Amino acid sequence: MMDLSQAKIRFNRSEESLLKKIGAIADKLNLETYLIGGYVRDKLLKRACMDIDIVCVGDAIKLSKEVAVIYNLPPPTIFKRFGTAMIKAGEFEVEFVGARKESYNKDSRKPIVQNGSLEDDQNRRDFTINALAFSLNKVSWGKMLDPFRGIEDLKNGVIRTPLSPKVTFTDDPLRMLRAIRFASQLKFDISLETLNGIKECADRIEIISQERITTELNKIILSDKPSIGFKLLHEVGLIEKIFPAMARLRGVDYVNGKGHKDNYFHTLQVLDNVAYKSNDLWLRWAAIMHDIGKPKTKRFNNKIGWTFHGHDAVGAGMTPSIFRKLKLPLDHKMKFVQKLVRLHLRPISLTKENITDSAIRRLLYEAGEDIDQLMMLCEADITTKNEGKQKRYLANYELVKEKMNEIEEKDHIRNWQPPISGEEIMDVFNIGPSREVGIIKNAIKEAILDGDIANSYKEAHSFMLNKAKEMGII
Ligand code: ATP
Ligand code: MG
Repeated sequence: MMDLSQAKIRFNRSEESLLKKIGAIADKLNLETYLIGGYVRDKLLKRACMDIDIVCVGDAIKLSKEVAVIYNLPPPTIFKRFGTAMIKAGEFEVEFVGARKESYNKDSRKPIVQNGSLEDDQNRRDFTINALAFSLNKVSWGKMLDPFRGIEDLKNGVIRTPLSPKVTFTDDPLRMLRAIRFASQLKFDISLETLNGIKECADRIEIISQERITTELNKIILSDKPSIGFKLLHEVGLIEKIFPAMARLRGVDYVNGKGHKDNYFHTLQVLDNVAYKSNDLWLRWAAIMHDIGKPKTKRFNNKIGWTFHGHDAVGAGMTPSIFRKLKLPLDHKMKFVQKLVRLHLRPISLTKENITDSAIRRLLYEAGEDIDQLMMLCEADITTKNEGKQKRYLANYELVKEKMNEIEEKDHIRNWQPPISGEEIMDVFNIGPSREVGIIKNAIKEAILDGDIANSYKEAHSFMLNKAKEMGII
């Protein structure tokens, strides 16, 4: 049953010495021991990987303790509930687990776990390419145990479940998202049978926690070309279950033969464009969210056709609740995404002729230190296939950026705070915290952004006195 083809893994020196030592300790304890799963896969694909999974037929915790002693490491962290142990060896995290057999009961999400053979252990793994085992014992060092032809699937770039897809996905529906995540990360195809299995089991995703779903979603988003994953999520019918607001971007309506662009696929193009330029997860989220307000603001006008007026503000308004629902952070990262959604149309308006310095200063002030990211998003948002138009739009943004640089050099707006604080206003007029303080402070800020006065303490101070007179405070 087992295919014992020779491995073609090349370890570097520190990996090899660590794994050989684990093998020698396993020999001493008389434990059949393997390197398994993602690490074997990534090594064969020559991808970087720091998480080493070790499986042994027998007491994995004992093995991990012995390895820690011989390596002079702190004792392993033991996860009793899972029967696993973890040690940190230099740059590597090594997880030890005993080979196990899992049986699932229809009415429960939790499997019944029993000790098992290596083969049992390989059977419970999600995909053929994740079930490869590389022998670490001295007599069989380097033998690859590949019962499901995972190496062939690796060569052909195919994701396939080891057992029938229906069994694998019903046992643990998260695996459907993992399949799509691996397809996106590795640029692999999902085998037809496996893909059909996902379509069939898609409803079952509802028993998986939002945290685990979002972890996979973020891994899709961080892949080189995230549209691969999102197109699959759409194809199998998972996107509407895990991220309905995004699914609503899909589709084109027609009135009098006039359609608009499909905003799902447009968004994916923007996401890929951003991903090509930046690895920042939150900038990528801003790309996903930038048009999220479009379905709610879509109107048809006989004269001008389809409009999405206000989708920037509506999208910004939707951002906190979507982040909350997806269990994404609600801190400054959400605020950053929200800010970019809110401002994503503003640079377009700055490409019009006769733009005033004050309009540029305002955007610099509002975007603050996120202005470069905002411009990246805007450039990524140009998805026209017409090369002439594309060049022209990009050139327009170059002009805007030049102007911004000029103004920034002159006025230093990016990290700017108005030259007079609320405390100073209270001091000067001998008043307590009040609405008046806010009005004066805001008026100073507006006057500087509008260019009515220079960005200097002196001019701001006399402006403040005039404003206070006007308000009858002095
Ligand atoms: P990555 O580390 O890039 O997320 P990985 O394949 O190493 O990818 P891990 O979550 O680290 O994924 O899991 C290690 C191994 O455990 C996998 O390669 C696979 O064999 C197995 N595994 C993980 N999650 C599951 C699951 N939900 N169902 C079945 N097997 C799984
Ligand atoms: Mg891993």
